Amino acid sequence: AKSEGRNGYVFHCAELDRAVRERVRVNDELQAALRNGELTLHYQPQVEVPSGRINGLEALVRWNHPRRGLLYPGAFIPIAETTGAIVGIGRFVLEEACRQIKRWQAEGIDPPRVAVNISAAQFKGAAPLDQQLRETLARYDVDPALIEIELTEFALLESTKANSDTIRRVRELGISVAIDDFGTGYSSLEYLRTYRVNRLKIPQQFMTEVAIESGDAAIVRAALVLARELGMDAIAEGVETPEQLAFLLSAGCRNVQGYYFSRPVAVEALRPLLDDGVIH
Ligand code: C2E
Ligand code: CA
Ligand code: CA
Repeated sequence: AKSEGRNGYVFHCAELDRAVRERVRVNDELQAALRNGELTLHYQPQVEVPSGRINGLEALVRWNHPRRGLLYPGAFIPIAETTGAIVGIGRFVLEEACRQIKRWQAEGIDPPRVAVNISAAQFKGAAPLDQQLRETLARYDVDPALIEIELTEFALLESTKANSDTIRRVRELGISVAIDDFGTGYSSLEYLRTYRVNRLKIPQQFMTEVAIESGDAAIVRAALVLARELGMDAIAEGVETPEQLAFLLSAGCRNVQGYYFSRPVAVEALRPLLDDGVIH
């Protein structure tokens, strides 16, 4: 870098340099992780209340790092999104979910629908998303009714005809579509006009104070009304306490995901829950 004796500038370049090198390193490690099978999926049950029936599982990626141990997505997904590694990760997640569905079926388990998170890059990728999904599900011979995709409002940033066509074609395949973290992005209401989706996921951040009749309670109730009026399902995320659950039940929300019922767990730990089919 050109320094010309200006210390501030030199410092800035060194910092930038470090950040870039760090990203390159994590990216290289991620590519190797994909090749070496270090990525794995945990599954978090989606539960219908009050029956306790498990009617879905969200697949959440984990990285079994050879030196650093089990890493959560916060430690690598944001970097993967800037380097493009997220595309390979997304492909792995979809394929692994399909393989797991087939494994469960081979073991005589009737698996619930599995929801996979789709990043913005994957949504806007070289091949249209519906084509990626159709090709992968056909390759693994998986019933599309067993797959849901979760899109954040970030992925949907421009509410364009092309995006809404993609979503329509995904749904025509028989795959359901959820908007993740509804209400935390920009112009959410505009999305509801443009995009026809099956489900709204009401984010964890609105759950913190629902039980004490704060603004959160009003927002969650309003989101539930919106979903109902538009003929969509709703599911509340991040439900941790009996008070939150009681509030949701009183507000007519019948689908819940959160630590109250189960953390995301590895396949072996999920087994007894799937055998029962219900959680209480
Ligand atoms: P998300 O899609 O909103 O996933 C839900 C996150 O909330 C998960 O964190 C889950 O462990 C956590 N969670 C669930 N229930 C509770 C609860 O009751 N209380 C609290 N405090 N947290 C709860 P996780 O697994 O660390 O994932 C974080 C984010 O990383 C996800 O947020 C998603 O945006 C991203 N992510 C995870 N897996 C994938 C993936 O396969 N592809 C992509 N593109 N992103 C992923
Ligand atoms: Ca999600
Ligand atoms: Ca979410």
